Amino acid sequence: MPSLDRVRQLIRDVPDFPQPGIVFKDITPVLGDPAAFQSVLDTLEERLRVYGADRIVAIESRGFVFGAALADRLKIGFSPIRKLGKLPYKTHRIEYALEYGKGVLEAHVDAVQPGEKVAIVDDLLATGGTAWGAAQLVRMQEGQVAAFLFVVELAFLKGRDRLVQSGGPVEALITY
Ligand code: AMP
Repeated sequence: MPSLDRVRQLIRDVPDFPQPGIVFKDITPVLGDPAAFQSVLDTLEERLRVYGADRIVAIESRGFVFGAALADRLKIGFSPIRKLGKLPYKTHRIEYALEYGKGVLEAHVDAVQPGEKVAIVDDLLATGGTAWGAAQLVRMQEGQVAAFLFVVELAFLKGRDRLVQSGGPVEALITY
């Protein structure tokens, strides 16, 4: 099994995407390498089991790739959080700030059951605005945020501090 060092080597920097000044961390080479993808999932699964989550809530679109696979491994439910206008049924909404702009996130009104312990999953933690918005949506539905899980963390943007202050432990596999 490859170590997370191999995963780190596969993550590709794409300068000036989606706009000048942003170095985009492209995780698609990791998804394309079966052993590396498995090792990411094995490690996330191991960390996730500690929190005893009842549900995965993942953020579109790269969060879905990891979140759905983890929900299958743990045999728990999966609920999507999407950008404004993508979900078909009644939604709750939250405005959030991200590294490059502002946006609105939505969850279906029945995404989380009251009292459920929820793990929030995304590919990358930057400023933490997106994951914070996701946590607000979970709490609007009376869910508890058990943990935030990411493959990559951009530590210099201090998103972790924001999420920990908002009341959830943060797990990230690869830090820059
Ligand atoms: P933030 O809300 O600032 O923590 O940004 C996190 C969200 O934006 C995640 O859904 C990431 O996929 C995406 N994102 C932000 N910055 C980057 C980056 N440098 N490389 C890849 N994805 C990013």
